[in-house]
Amino acid sequence: MSNNVILIRFGELYLKGKNKDYFENTLKTNIRKKLENLECTLYFGRGRYVVKDYDQSNEEEIIFRLKQVFGIHSISVAGRCGYDFEEIVALALEMTPNSGTFRVSSHRSYKKYPLNSLQINMQLGERILQAKSGLTVDLHRPDYIINVDVRENGDVYLFDSVIKCAGGMPYGTSSNGLLLLSGGIDSPVAGYMLAKRGMNLTALHFHSYPYTSEAAKQKAVDLARILREYCPNLKLVCVSLTEIQESIHKHCKPNYMITLVRRFMMRIAQSVAQSHGCGCIINGESLGQVASQTLESITVTNAVVDIPVFRPLIGMDKDEIIEIAEKIGTFKKSIEPYEDCCTVFLPEFPLIKPAREKVEEQESFIPDYHGLIERALTELEVIKL
Ligand code: ATP
Ligand code: MG
Repeated sequence: MSNNVILIRFGELYLKGKNKDYFENTLKTNIRKKLENLECTLYFGRGRYVVKDYDQSNEEEIIFRLKQVFGIHSISVAGRCGYDFEEIVALALEMTPNSGTFRVSSHRSYKKYPLNSLQINMQLGERILQAKSGLTVDLHRPDYIINVDVRENGDVYLFDSVIKCAGGMPYGTSSNGLLLLSGGIDSPVAGYMLAKRGMNLTALHFHSYPYTSEAAKQKAVDLARILREYCPNLKLVCVSLTEIQESIHKHCKPNYMITLVRRFMMRIAQSVAQSHGCGCIINGESLGQVASQTLESITVTNAVVDIPVFRPLIGMDKDEIIEIAEKIGTFKKSIEPYEDCCTVFLPEFPLIKPAREKVEEQESFIPDYHGLIERALTELEVIKL
């Protein structure tokens, strides 16, 4: 069993006002769930949580998992001892290097501790100086800071570094949204960004089996599984666009294909959102990235729905999106070479600036489009992740 602990810090912004308990309770549940099969004790103090009594060989894994919990802003691995000042000195001496400059920075949430923060700083600093002649104190720009945290639970924690975590708001505290999840690079990142703001996600994937393969669908399932590490309870819904695409292909001008398919996608998405209790649609569009992502194209596809559509990547460059995809672990999976349903019946010259009336005219050539949507929805499949 390790004598180290892991200190968890969370944002203060959302902890003001009436929602404080709700946010904190959600965060605690998410942390508990994340660590549920690793032996450890969780201590939830005011303003800071602590993971203790874990096996030292699991330390890296615990840190890795905590970095996937939204609402945690940073963590520190700390040494632990009791209130006895000699124990604190011994631990501090173990941690400090033998040369360079240092400073002690104390925080005392147990206010009855006989020394106040300033006294701890001074007395501990002095003892370190006595023991290590190669060290000097520098209060402003030290090479090394020994942080001392005196807690109410009988523990004192000493740490020297801070690991930045995902930040954001606890997952599940900001209503429900429906993520349009393709097999590409962008949409998993889009989902990650709203999940980071606390939004509870359901994912919707469209396929065109047999024009798209089983493997292409499996790729979306794999991506959803990666996202689930950040989004506990994430569900994946799959809908076939095959009949719809065949019908557009048969009845409409080829260069309207993408615009028309995307309008069907949005209508179906709105319907799935409503039946799954989601108040918005999220997609991975980025302005100007491809023909379907110009303002004119977005206007025409957005026109068929009346719930908000969030596009968290709209102002981002591809390389910025890739950087996040790599960080969250979806990039490698996303670049596996499988076809997307949008590439089925791909026209040579897709419309860059579709006009709404002309799009509606093309749509009117499709017999029974309501029936097409209804059939796609009745064959909807919920995938177990
Ligand atoms: P991505 O990398 O997310 O696939 P993209 O750059 O390839 O995006 P498009 O193919 O135009 O762009 O798709 C734009 C957005 O539409 C995607 O980010 C995604 O949210 C949604 N989308 C595209 N294809 C599908 C699909 N097969 N299933 C669900 N949503 C899709
Ligand atoms: Mg795509």
